[in-house]
Formats: sequence, structure tokens, C-alpha cells
Amino acid sequence: MAVEDFTPGLNFIRTIIEADIKAGKNGGRVHTRFPPEPNGYLHIGHAKSICLNFGLAAEYKGFCNLRFDDTNPGKEDVEYVDSIMADVRWLGFDWQDRLYYASDYFEQLYEFALHLIRSGQAYVCDLTAEQVRQYRGTLTECGINSPCRDRSAEENLDLFQRMRAGEFPDGSYVLRAKIDMASPNLNMRDPVLYRIRRESHHRTGDAWCIYPMYDYTHPISDALEGVTHSICTLEFEDHRPFYDWVLDNLPVPCHPQQIEFARLNLSYTVMSKRKLLELVDKALVHGWDDPRLPTIAALRRRGFTPEAIRNFAELIGVAKRESVVDMALLEHCLREDLNKRAKRVMAVLRPLKVVITNYPEGQVEELDAENNPEDPAAGTRRLPFSRELYIEQEDFREDPPKKFFRLSLGKEIRLKHAYYIRCDEVVKDNNGRITELRCSYDPESRGGWTKDGRKVLGTSHWVSAAQALDVEVRLYDKLLSVANPAGENEEKDFKEYLNPASLEIVKNCKVEPSLAAAKPGDRFQFLRQGYFCVDSDSSPQALVFNRSVTLRDSWAKIEKSQQSK
Ligand code: ATP
Ligand code: MG
Repeated sequence: MAVEDFTPGLNFIRTIIEADIKAGKNGGRVHTRFPPEPNGYLHIGHAKSICLNFGLAAEYKGFCNLRFDDTNPGKEDVEYVDSIMADVRWLGFDWQDRLYYASDYFEQLYEFALHLIRSGQAYVCDLTAEQVRQYRGTLTECGINSPCRDRSAEENLDLFQRMRAGEFPDGSYVLRAKIDMASPNLNMRDPVLYRIRRESHHRTGDAWCIYPMYDYTHPISDALEGVTHSICTLEFEDHRPFYDWVLDNLPVPCHPQQIEFARLNLSYTVMSKRKLLELVDKALVHGWDDPRLPTIAALRRRGFTPEAIRNFAELIGVAKRESVVDMALLEHCLREDLNKRAKRVMAVLRPLKVVITNYPEGQVEELDAENNPEDPAAGTRRLPFSRELYIEQEDFREDPPKKFFRLSLGKEIRLKHAYYIRCDEVVKDNNGRITELRCSYDPESRGGWTKDGRKVLGTSHWVSAAQALDVEVRLYDKLLSVANPAGENEEKDFKEYLNPASLEIVKNCKVEPSLAAAKPGDRFQFLRQGYFCVDSDSSPQALVFNRSVTLRDSWAKIEKSQQSK
């Protein structure tokens, strides 16, 4: 392996591009494109492709186009077009004036089809879809020539023009490339170029009743836009000979190079648009931006940052081999980013009331609290402290196990930024449920430290009851209960693996009053509980927070414990 292969960030695509630049190919230009089909929302796999295409263009001072590959009118919609543009922008990329639609090339694509017919390289075929499949043959058997293969160019031109004019019913004819029915590559056995389909297109309306196939449209669109490196996922590797055939046989301005890389797969989730659409349509999740989904809209709503996603894309790199990336890595990238910039606040998710019996009734004092120990510039805020507080239910145990470093009867803990408290009495209701703790505080321990330096078991977060805000908190877990459904029982549908505990809604959580002004999209660290983001459903009267990610890598831990079983 050459030394430069070890350069951080160097991957096989950069190696190809650098060799092309060195050789003066394309006049040293680098021009890429991101070509989504507007038939669903973008997901984290698309983010990988976006970061790659826009990233390479920026790196090599080239351009990257955003092109909607909209040749399939039945499944496409402007809602998806709009969401895709919003997502690409949010990720931090800009196509400037290079926004394209494959549908803008329909007329040109049609002209090129006439060209192929005239040169004897395309013919109109009246086999049914089923017959086309049968005649194609298999990996081990050659295909059989269609009986229409030898139609004259004149007859083909006439039929194709009448296909366009709407003289024939849907499915009655197709236009096919005339290549080689004995090719070992099935994609070269006279692939279909056009089909008749009476469907309204979201941009061209009813102007067309014939639509070009993706494999025919894509290379031409690339060439018309002056793309130099057409980067796509591995499943198109077998389509590359046809990509090249189209460009070799048409008077196009240039011949882009198709380069394939392995698509991103992520554990515990689904990544195909078809499956995501099914979850949305069957209301198994609450829309495309349900924070449990791997869509960019969902990740944004959950509290992911574009920086975390871009960093993730760079970390996973590009390869030629399929693999499943651990979801824990994506979460790790988010923690790294938010640790630097999320303001720390106190929030009690499952409140237990604490009365400080030796604290004067009616008194409220303000304590200083640092906003982010990782960022001195983040400053401090004031926290109210009073006689009645809330702590987390799980921070108290009546029968503490060994090594319980929190509060129990007769024991002392520190309240973060505040005082030491000792639990003197446990109050219960008629059913024996703990309703309140009666504690005493050490007035000498203001700020959470004592002169005598005595140790306490631990430090808890808390909020002052009278000033606390009541909020809703949504906690998320993995969408699927298995890491890789494809590796499980093949008979089973992926929906059988949906994790029933993927969403937990916790109401009546208590948060410190500084959060009163929090707006949708604002991000915080709730001390000891994770990073949270204000949800789009939130309002000043009814604040709602999504947990973006926990503080510790609990998923990685789960994985380890499963391995050791
Ligand atoms: P899906 O399989 O999720 O339906 P798709 O390939 O049909 O995705 P497109 O809209 O055609 O979706 O994708 C646009 C671009 O994003 C393509 O270049 C495609 O190769 C790339 N892409 C799609 N999924 C992934 C993925 N999981 N990892 C990397 N790139 C991807
Ligand atoms: Mg596709």
C-alpha cells in the first residue's frame, strides 16, 4: 500500500479525483451532484452522500449540483422536493444556482431517444412486461431476442412518436435499447428506455404520457450538467456498462465517470424510503420527522446538529464493502458536539418533594450556577433555592443497596450548586408510597462545599418547587429491537422488530425557571439526564423537550453485555 493511502481522510474516491486532476482530465475540474428522487424524506444515508458530493466539490474548488431525479411521477411529490431542499441547506450545503430537475430534460431525452432509433440502437417493443422478463433470461442463461428487434428505423420512429402522442394504452409498448441479449450482464440485455404511463407529473403535469427510465436519464443528466464524477451507491456497479453505453452512443457534451461506494446502513433502524414510507403511512410513527426515525428531519427535531452529522459522515468514511455502522457512533458524534456548546440546566424528570425543615419559610435565595464548565464564555445564571424542592425519585432509596451513592435516611448528599442536605424523615401516603422527604440543610455549605471538607455520598440535581416549570419530556429508544433485521429470520417483516418502548412520554417534569424562554430547536444538557432539545410541538405555555441522547453510551454497554452472554 502506498504511503499516501494512510493520509487521514484520504479515501479511494479522493484518490481517483486526485489522479484525474494530475492527469488533466476534465481540464482539472471537479463537478459532482446529489441526485435524490423526490419520493420521500432524506435519511442519514443520504446525508452521507450529500456530505461526500458537496464536500468533495468544496475540497477541490469545484461545484456540486442538486438534481431531482424525478422520472417516476406516481410516487413523487412537491412536499418531498421542499423537504429535500430544506434538509440539504440545514446540513450546511449550498447548490447556489445549480438546482436541476431531470424532468427539465424530458424534451432533450426524447430527442436523444429518436437519435438512438435512427442509428438502429433502439426499438419499440410490444412484448408485455411479463414477456420482457421471460425473454431476458437469467444469470446462467442467455436471453432471447424480442420479435420486434428488427423493426425498421422508420417503423420505430413512427411508433415512438405515436407513443408520445398518446395513441396507445399504458403498458402496450416500450422503447428498448438494442444492445446484446446474450450479454453476461443482465442490464445490457436490451434494457427499457421508455414506458407509457398516464400519470400526472408534479412539474410537467400531463404534458407527457411516456416517461424515461432512471438508468437512461441519469447518465444523460450528468453529461448535460458537465458532471465529472458521478458518485453513487454500490448497487449501481452492474449498471455502469449501460451508463457508459448511453454516453458512448449519444452526442453528449462529456462523459462523466461513475464511481460506486457502499451505502450507509445503521444498526437498530431502517433506511429504505419504502420502509420509512410504510411506517409513516401506517401511522406506526408520527410522521416523517418522528424523532425515532433516521430521517434528517427527525434527527433535526430530536436535537441533532448539522455539525454532528457532518462529523459522523467524515468518520465513517467511504468504502467499497457494505457494512452496518453502530448507531452508538452517531450518538457519540452528537455528544461530542453538544458537550462543547449546550448550556447545562437542572431538570427533574420524576419529581420527589423535599422539604428543608430548617430553612426559613417564605425565603428564596439566588445561587450562582455555571452554564457550561467546558466553555468559560458561557457565563453563569442564578438559580432560586427555597424550603421546598424536587429531587429525582431515583436519587432516594429507603433500603439503599451497597454502593448507593445518593440519598437515604440519615445520609447526606450535596445539591448541585446549593447546599448539603441530610434526610431526617420519610413521609408516605396510605398506600405506603413515598410522597415527601423531610431534610435539614447545612447553612455553612452554600455553593455545595463545607469548610470541614467532609465527604458526602454524591451530588444530586434539584429544582426549587415554587419556581419550577411543569414540562413534558419525550424519551426515545431504538426504533428496532434488533441491530440488523436483515441478519434475522428472513420470513419476518421488519415491522415485527419495532421496539414497543421506543417512545416514553413523561409528563409533569420539573425544570428550572431559566427555561421559560426556551424556543423550539434550543438545546440543553439536563444535568445527569442527557442532552435535550425543545420540540416543535412546544409552546411557552406547554414546554416539550426531546431527549436527543443520553449522557453515557448506554447502547454500547448493552452491546457489550450481549456479546459476553
Ligand atoms: P432508498 O434506498 O433509501 O430508497 P434511494 O437510493 O432510492 O434510497 P435516492 O433518492 O435515489 O434514494 O438517493 C439519492 C442519492 O443518495 C443516491 O445517489 C443514492 O446513491 C444516495 N443514497 C441513498 N441511500 C444511501 C445510503 N444509505 N448511503 C449512502 N448513500 C445513499
Ligand atoms: Mg434511487
